[in-house]
Amino acid sequence: MSMKVLLLAEHDGNTLNPSTARALACANGLGGEVHVVVFAASAGDVANAAAQLEGVAKVLTVERTENGAPLAAVLAPQIAALADGYDAVLAPSTTFGKDVLPRAAALLGAPQVSDIMEVVDAGARTFRRPMYAGNAIVDVKVPEGVKIIGTVRTASFQGAADGTSAAPIEAVSVAAELPSHSEYVGLASQESERPDLQSAPRVVSGGRGVGSEENFKVIFSLADKLGAAVGASRAAVDAGYVPNDMQVGQTGKIIAPDLYLAIGISGAIQHVTGIKDAGIIVAINKDPEAPIFEIADYGLVGDLFKLLPELEEAIG
Ligand SMILES: Cc1cc2nc3c(=O)[nH]c(=O)nc-3n(C[C@H](O)[C@H](O)[C@H](O)COP(=O)(O)OP(=O)(O)OC[C@H]3O[C@@H](n4cnc5c(N)ncnc54)[C@H](O)[C@@H]3O)c2cc1C
Repeated sequence: MSMKVLLLAEHDGNTLNPSTARALACANGLGGEVHVVVFAASAGDVANAAAQLEGVAKVLTVERTENGAPLAAVLAPQIAALADGYDAVLAPSTTFGKDVLPRAAALLGAPQVSDIMEVVDAGARTFRRPMYAGNAIVDVKVPEGVKIIGTVRTASFQGAADGTSAAPIEAVSVAAELPSHSEYVGLASQESERPDLQSAPRVVSGGRGVGSEENFKVIFSLADKLGAAVGASRAAVDAGYVPNDMQVGQTGKIIAPDLYLAIGISGAIQHVTGIKDAGIIVAINKDPEAPIFEIADYGLVGDLFKLLPELEEAIG
């Protein structure tokens, strides 16, 4: 019997986040019928974009005022109620998916497979995922009779392309009691003209070696020259040089840009696990023994404050 898969769409109310197309590639790997669900106050554009994606059999929209903000406490009971008719429920392993899906899994009494990197064998319900910050890669099997609940490591999948025809869109209402203990108050976010760190093809990251918030302007300057997003190590974030939504790594963002520049970053395993799937890695560090050089395709040993202006000049 073919599997029915429910995929949670990530969006900002207007635009479908590219993480959804990547998670869809994993969902399609299960070989079943994939329905994408859009929880929103008004799902219009997001549902239309989801319906275009290759491999989507149907888009479900659950529209209500409370779904205007992606509040995990509000979405989880609705996901759990909707999950009834499905064998598997997937979401991208982004801040959004990591927040909401474990709650839904708990409500369903099902174990969650986090950070799926590969569908090893759909029939055998076996998935590959990292453990211990990527030091171990394990294959896990979800027992028969247990719902598959999984977050998808988006860096491990190419986004599904648009298909030739649009899938049908169906408005559904979900009977779920919503909690009164959590309500959406507001969103405080940094406005930036720079590309989104999670999906940018080029990323320049700075570490503790950059030394201060003020010094970080050298990182921003190089990034702007390259049209790149800016990331940081946890040490740079903890030291207050940059906000924590810029953190790359195990407890930050897992990214897969074509080009990654690590500047003044030592290359601790918890950082490196966040860039495992990057294309070309360039490291600049004054310590020739820094572990980042073990994984870098290109390495420059020297003082970043001397090398970065030279690099910018060479780029033109
Ligand atoms: C549970 C757990 C989760 C974690 N999650 C993350 C995570 O998500 N992301 C993350 O990044 N870390 C994470 N860490 C922290 C991680 O272990 C490291 O402490 C951190 O990555 C170090 O950051 P760094 O490389 O910037 O700093 P450091 O290790 O201090 O390295 C700074 C580097 O800068 C170089 N340097 C200094 N001055 C210059 C200069 N002028 N020019 C050139 N190079 C210079 C130095 O040679 C050094 O290699 C986690 C740790 C734990 C325990």
